[in-house]
Amino acid sequence: MKVKVELRKKIDESYDVIIEDGKSKMLAKEIIKGGFGRKYFIITDSNVERIIGKRLLAQFAKEKTIAEMVSFPAGEKSKNMQTVSRLAEKMLLLGFDRKDCIIALGGGVTGDVAGFTASIYMRGINFVQVPTTLLAMVDSSIGGKTGVDSALSKNSIGSFKQPKKVYACVEFLQSLPKKELINGMSEVVKHAVITDKGLFKFIESNREKILALDSKTMAFLVKRSCEIKGNVVEKDEREENLRKILNYGHTIGHAIENLGNYSRLAHGEAVSIGMIAEAKISKALGLMNEAEIERIRKLLGKIGLPAKLPNYGLKKIIEKTHSDKKAIGSQVFYALPERIGKMHSVNGRFAIPVQDSTVLKALAH
Ligand code: ADP
Ligand code: ZN
Repeated sequence: MKVKVELRKKIDESYDVIIEDGKSKMLAKEIIKGGFGRKYFIITDSNVERIIGKRLLAQFAKEKTIAEMVSFPAGEKSKNMQTVSRLAEKMLLLGFDRKDCIIALGGGVTGDVAGFTASIYMRGINFVQVPTTLLAMVDSSIGGKTGVDSALSKNSIGSFKQPKKVYACVEFLQSLPKKELINGMSEVVKHAVITDKGLFKFIESNREKILALDSKTMAFLVKRSCEIKGNVVEKDEREENLRKILNYGHTIGHAIENLGNYSRLAHGEAVSIGMIAEAKISKALGLMNEAEIERIRKLLGKIGLPAKLPNYGLKKIIEKTHSDKKAIGSQVFYALPERIGKMHSVNGRFAIPVQDSTVLKALAH
C-alpha cells in the first residue's frame, strides 16, 4: 500500500528592497502600510537599540500599532542558538503569534539572528529587514540566508528565509563607525569585480564622496549592489552554481578570518585580502593580468582595506581552506575573475577546483 502526500509547491517569495534617503522618520508608517503583521517584534543589538531602535519604537507608538523591542549584546558572539531561543521565548511570553511580524533592525548579525528566529518561530512568521550597516544593506539583507554559529563552526545552523521587504535607509549610515563602513565597501568592490566594470569605475571616481557618506552616492551604491546580488540570487537561490561567484575572495578570506579567531580581521578586511589572493590565483592559471590586479589593489587600498596576507604561514592558510564548507573531499573550490567585471567558468561552472600547489605558487610572493 502506498499513500502519496503531494507537496509540489510553487510559491512566490519575491520582495522589494526600498532604498531611501531622509525618510527614516516615516519608517514605522511605511512598515505598517505593508501589512506584514498585526504586531511587530523588533530584534536589534544593544548599540542599534540606543541609536535607532528607541526612535523607531516611538514611531510605532505614535501610529498606535503594538510593537515590542528586544536587544542582544552587540557583536558576533551573540550569534548563537541561545540568543535565538531567548528571543523566541520572549516572543511567546509577550503573546506573539503567526499573524505577527519580526523586524530585523541592525547589521548582518541582527539580520541572521532575527531571520533565523522568524524562520522557526511557530514554524515560520513574516519578517522584514531594516539594515543599518553598509554590509547588511549591500549584502546580507539580500538572498535569504539566515543562521547562527555553533561553538564548532560558523553559520552552521540556519535556514533560507526570505524577508517580506527590505528597507534600506541610507541616513542610518551616518552613525556607523568608519571601520564598519570600510568593511561593507569590501563587498561592494566584490560585486563590481564579479559583474560590473562600470560600478568599479564609479567607486574609483567617487571614493571621496563615499568615505564622506554623501547620501546620493551611498544610495546609488546600495541600489546597484542590491541589483547585482538580487540578479544572482534570482537565478540560483540555493547556490548550485552561479551564486558561487559571490564567494569571490571568500575561500582565502574565510581561512584567514578563522586563523585570526574571527577577531584579528573583520570580515570585510579578510575578504579584501582574499580578493587580491584569489586574483593572484587567477593570474597563476593564466586568467587575470597583473594590471587588473593592481587596479583592484589600488582601489581597496584607497578605501582603507588591506591587501597583504597576514603572516599565518601560507601552508596553514591553504590547509585551512580545506575545512571550508564548500570544499568537497580534498578539492577546494574558487570563484575566480578573468578580468574586472567578468568571472571565469569552466563548462558553465563557476566554482573551479584549484590544486594546493597552484595556490602555493600563486601566493608565495
Ligand atoms: P555586520 O553588519 O558587519 O555583519 P554587525 O551586525 O555586528 O556586523 O554590526 C557591526 C557593528 O555596528 C555592531 O557593533 C553594531 O551594533 C554596530 N551598528 C550597526 N548599525 C549601526 C549604525 N547605524 N550606527 C552605529 N553603529 C551601528
Ligand atoms: Zn562576505
